[in-house]
Amino acid sequence: MKRSSRLALVVASLALVLQSTASTAAAESARRPNLVFVFPDQMRGQAMGFLGQEPVVTPNLDRFAQQSLVLTQAVSNYPVCSPYRAMLMTGKYPHANGVLSNCTSRTAAFDNQLRQTDRCWSDVLADRGYSLGYIGKWHLDAPHKPYVESYNNSEKFAWNEWCPPERRHGFDFWYAYGTFDRHLTPEYWSTDMKRHERVKVQQWGPEHETDLAIKYITNAGGTYRKPDRPFALVMSMNPPHTPYQLVPKKYLVPYADKTTEQLITRDNVNLQGDSRGAKIARAQIKNYFAMITGVDDQFGRILRALAEAGLDKDTIVVFTSDHGNCLGSHDHSTKNVHYEESLIVPFLIRWPGNIAPRRDDLLLSTPDIYPTLLDLMGLKADIPATVGGVSHAQLFRTGNGPRPSSAMYLWIPPERPELGRRGVRTDRYTLMIEKTPDAPPRHTLHDNRDDPFQLQNLADEQPELVDRLTREELVPWLKKTRDPWLGEKGK
Ligand code: CA
Repeated sequence: MKRSSRLALVVASLALVLQSTASTAAAESARRPNLVFVFPDQMRGQAMGFLGQEPVVTPNLDRFAQQSLVLTQAVSNYPVCSPYRAMLMTGKYPHANGVLSNCTSRTAAFDNQLRQTDRCWSDVLADRGYSLGYIGKWHLDAPHKPYVESYNNSEKFAWNEWCPPERRHGFDFWYAYGTFDRHLTPEYWSTDMKRHERVKVQQWGPEHETDLAIKYITNAGGTYRKPDRPFALVMSMNPPHTPYQLVPKKYLVPYADKTTEQLITRDNVNLQGDSRGAKIARAQIKNYFAMITGVDDQFGRILRALAEAGLDKDTIVVFTSDHGNCLGSHDHSTKNVHYEESLIVPFLIRWPGNIAPRRDDLLLSTPDIYPTLLDLMGLKADIPATVGGVSHAQLFRTGNGPRPSSAMYLWIPPERPELGRRGVRTDRYTLMIEKTPDAPPRHTLHDNRDDPFQLQNLADEQPELVDRLTREELVPWLKKTRDPWLGEKGK
């Protein structure tokens, strides 16, 4: 055989192999489940009606919980926007993914943003033939000059930034923004828009985004996604984030006749006080709950759209949040602290026939979400070795499997990453240690079983317990995540 014809034969065989690989991948991906991942911003894990902890009206979540695995101790390891979102997307802890703080013009100096080179779970799904949609808040790009025109960007300080297509990690349908908190007049960049363009809307953000999500799910005429392929849709709603008063009046109705005392059931809120936290709690509890009721209402619409499209059996649905909200608990106004209201988030997952409805107290860490979801979707082999989280797919499916004895808590100043707060949440205790430049480390220890509202700091009374939790739980986490907080001597 002549060299050229041999070459032609090789090329032809290669083409056949490639073609059959491609069609196998298409056939495989057609059988994989869809994913709908819904996460409102700043919704604490206690604020769901079915839990009976707070008088918040969530009929759709109450029903959904009956069909789902409900994790009652899901932890947002770094309970603030960008660090959570980077952990969610990369499956890595902050020191490994480079997002040590919120993405703003100030932290841009530390290249504090999601890396284009990181392989996110969405990159994996894109390579497996999924259609991928992202709707809502992204907050993973560092603002750069000249800052985009936005009410929350000024010459001196900027929050909002456009995400260029090459930084979208596989999402081919895009309707999102960096940060934008005017919930009744939201603004978005759609898939093909340039940085200076914007869709300006006169509708409550979650409602508008749900209208679009329903179109994406229904996919009339194949407009939004490939009809023959599975899809993953992320719904990142901004409420119940501040400003709490930007909520449609109809969602306030269930709370109209309730007193502050009836609504605030948390013993760690100083109801009568004159402090900032007390004032926020009294002024905003109705609005905060109304926003959650609104989010619940929109979530119900998504669930109905899935059922009407006949997709509910083939779709994994997750409902969670990036972090919680103290709203006056411990006199703290929002999040980014170790307290339960900030640290514990909702986590409900439904996959009919594959995950039995039940409650579980698994200490889920944020980086675990990526490997767990891909493993559930049959893509365990595609999880990069660099992912720092662990898969709980077996435990989700069967109720049995390895259980971590703790989840880490972090707060990192990007300019001094060896300082800040670190801690652990175990099944019973919360330990938090704060390092500042000029003072010895400060310890806080709570017994969440005997003191669920964390009113007592037991650190001075129980030094042996502090030492044991540090040695057996915190230090192994710090070593595993190569945290400079540990110091050279491992102290
Ligand atoms: Ca947030």
